[in-house]
Amino acid sequence: MAEASYNPFAMAQAQFDRAAAALNLDQATRDLLRLPIREYQFSIAVHMDDGTVKIFRGFRVQHNDARGPGKGGIRFHPQETVDTVRALAMWMTWKCAVVDIPLGGSKGGVVCDPHGLSAREEEQICRGWVRQMARNVGPDLDVPAPDVMTSAQHMLWMLDEFETIHGHKGPGFITGKPVGMGGSLGRTEATGYGVIYTLREALKELGIQTASTTASVQGFGNVAQYAIRLYQQLGGKVISVSCWSQKDQTSYCYRKKTGIDSDALLGIADRFGEIDKGKAQNLGYEILPGEAWLEQDVEILIPAALENQITGENVNRISRRVVLIAEGANGPTTPEADRVIGERSIFVIPDFLANAGGVTCSYFEQVQSNMNYYWEKDEVLEKLDTKMTSAFHAVSELARKRELFMRDAAYYIAITRVAQACKDRGWT
Ligand code: NAD
Repeated sequence: MAEASYNPFAMAQAQFDRAAAALNLDQATRDLLRLPIREYQFSIAVHMDDGTVKIFRGFRVQHNDARGPGKGGIRFHPQETVDTVRALAMWMTWKCAVVDIPLGGSKGGVVCDPHGLSAREEEQICRGWVRQMARNVGPDLDVPAPDVMTSAQHMLWMLDEFETIHGHKGPGFITGKPVGMGGSLGRTEATGYGVIYTLREALKELGIQTASTTASVQGFGNVAQYAIRLYQQLGGKVISVSCWSQKDQTSYCYRKKTGIDSDALLGIADRFGEIDKGKAQNLGYEILPGEAWLEQDVEILIPAALENQITGENVNRISRRVVLIAEGANGPTTPEADRVIGERSIFVIPDFLANAGGVTCSYFEQVQSNMNYYWEKDEVLEKLDTKMTSAFHAVSELARKRELFMRDAAYYIAITRVAQACKDRGWT
């Protein structure tokens, strides 16, 4: 039982089953939505710099495309599994539905560790992934994007391969591209900023001034960095961040009780969001074990690293002072931990709502790419704020009206929209 809750796909299915039962969804729709519609698994051969050939395993899972083309990132991670990708694809379906953008849910991945790869080797993985998937992805089918350990550069290599195979330009095939090469201004900030737009609204509802709050963050990558930036701009104080140490194969938490200096930390972090431990020590940071991020005496926790981080085993270490958890990462909280958090009446902004800013901006990027007309950054961020704010209020209003947890309310809205699309199309 405990083990099943640590399998992200079992966890995503358990969350879905709970909501489907409460919504009284018919059996055919349940059977359709608890599994991906299509999935692909394949091998990618890479000629390594040392002359050997290495085979990497790649995935693309298309969970549901009733509301529009699939949408979802591609992760590079050594512990990637098809079940993680399945869970993430399913969460993408709910994410696009909860912010009401006309896209479905997909996700991709490659089992690899970019820490040990040269740029040339990474480029071959990107091109190899596209060669395997070229007929089953595209602007009207399924649109990839960056995720953990993939960047704008990876997206551009993938786009280039896709266009070479198809013999025409197709910038709408992929999002998260570099600005100037079809990318949207604001995309880099979008997920982290989106987390804070929803957090800002939640604090308003709770009657708490952002400037009076402190936060502890797990992760220091794309999502965490921009979430921290905007939260600090709104007056909040981040007292600790944690990240992975590749050399020590463990995570550390960097704490400064007077508040972290995110620019200084950015200056000593690498492209994977790993902070240099020695340099952080010189800057006066306390260095604690990675899990310490969870036990800090703060009002707000922002998990923004990976799935399965707040579990039945560590949930009771959350400080009594915590009033809000904004889930920047996908699937950071297991169902066991969720129950305890609910009993303690901690306000949760669930992952597929909190971190939907990335896909929302990706959707804006796709629209701009298809028109070949690009908006100013302020316009992008304003549209993003509007979309995130209205999605947040739709969920919180339902939660209040029906006395639901925020996660359940978000599921009800998202699943209802997707189920309706399946019905309208005559699928179920
Ligand atoms: P990233 O690769 O840029 O950063 C990940 C960060 O997490 C790094 O700082 C890394 O050191 C840290 N980390 C990894 N393992 C850790 C551990 N055990 N303990 C503490 N820190 C650890 O990734 P990202 O793009 O910021 O994504 C973070 C999460 O947000 C993921 O769950 C991802 O799926 C989700 N997400 C990302 C986006 C996006 O647009 N980038 C959109 C939606 C959701």
